[in-house]
Amino acid sequence: MEVIEADVVIVGGGPAGCTCALYTSRANLKTVILDKNPAVGALAITHQIANYPGVSSEMSGDALLTLMRDQAIEYGTDYRRAQVFGVDASGDLKVVYTPEGTFKAKALVLATGAMGRPASFKGEADFLGRGVSYCATCDGAFYKGREVAVVGFNKEAIEEAQVLTKFASTVHWITSNDPSKDDDHAKQLIALPNVKHWNRTRLMLIEGNEGGVTGLQIKTRSDEKELPLPVDGVFVYMSGSKPITDFLGDQIACKEDGGILVDDFMSTTSEGVWAIGDIRNTPFKQAVVAASDGCIAAMAIDRYLNSRKVIRVDWVHS
Ligand SMILES: Cc1cc2nc3c(=O)[nH]c(=O)nc-3n(C[C@H](O)[C@H](O)[C@H](O)COP(=O)(O)OP(=O)(O)OC[C@H]3O[C@@H](n4cnc5c(N)ncnc54)[C@H](O)[C@@H]3O)c2cc1C
Repeated sequence: MEVIEADVVIVGGGPAGCTCALYTSRANLKTVILDKNPAVGALAITHQIANYPGVSSEMSGDALLTLMRDQAIEYGTDYRRAQVFGVDASGDLKVVYTPEGTFKAKALVLATGAMGRPASFKGEADFLGRGVSYCATCDGAFYKGREVAVVGFNKEAIEEAQVLTKFASTVHWITSNDPSKDDDHAKQLIALPNVKHWNRTRLMLIEGNEGGVTGLQIKTRSDEKELPLPVDGVFVYMSGSKPITDFLGDQIACKEDGGILVDDFMSTTSEGVWAIGDIRNTPFKQAVVAASDGCIAAMAIDRYLNSRKVIRVDWVHS
């Protein structure tokens, strides 16, 4: 497995992560962004962003985010698509784990936003890590030749179900509604020979034993009774509005509302770890606020890594 060292590793490539990367890259710090999926964060799914200063009111969130990402890359950021499933924040070098490799850095920035949700299906929390997963790229290979289910309707669910079709004998895709007629991605997925689409269907229960998940109970809109669906794994992709901190365990202190606790410089209570954007559960969740957090953290990181007593502003060029 590849091991990559950098000065700064940023988890999450939304406006917070991309702005932070722009500043750290311009400060000549080797910067890596690890981003689960550029299409699923809060800004990426914003249809129109009319209140970000200086951009056209017609611009989509996705187009603005692409500009931010490209600008960071232009200044040297190494942007990688990878889902972080764990970190070790205990040592001087912070370690970040993804299916694509392990990343080590002196400064770790948490910028995964707040599109998470608590486990809410019956059995979901009981079997998390034992058949319930949120990451097909992390866990898909465990299900070679076996039956799995994917629950959810968003872009991420469709992409992750496609990943699973390479491993599983059958992928049962469970959606509460019909996909729209012009959703080409959904059509491509449903056309795959090992996909069975259960539309207008609800997941009622995830069941299993000591060995993990053994099956589901589902309910279609046309049926009164619940149906058993024997599967070995279930991948859940539903969006909510809870800070995404599940990959951290108990390593970083959070506030009562679930947001990560930071000081004025976006430093967490763990030395060498910063948190920016919606992951802080700020009262004003806006793209410009997330970008501002990214700038503050980057300048604080530059000071931290270069043992500067004062923060050097970006516009002093000598
Ligand atoms: C529907 C909607 C409309 C909005 N409209 C506006 C608006 O008009 N104007 C405005 O200013 N704000 C708007 N907002 C709010 C704004 O989009 C957010 O405040 C902002 O995007 C937060 O930025 P962020 O970088 O913290 O998180 P996000 O933009 O959510 O980005 C987080 C990134 O982290 C990645 N990620 C998550 N988990 C992992 C992981 N485990 N490993 C690696 N990467 C991971 C995600 O893929 C994503 O790319 C809107 C939000 C929503 C949901």
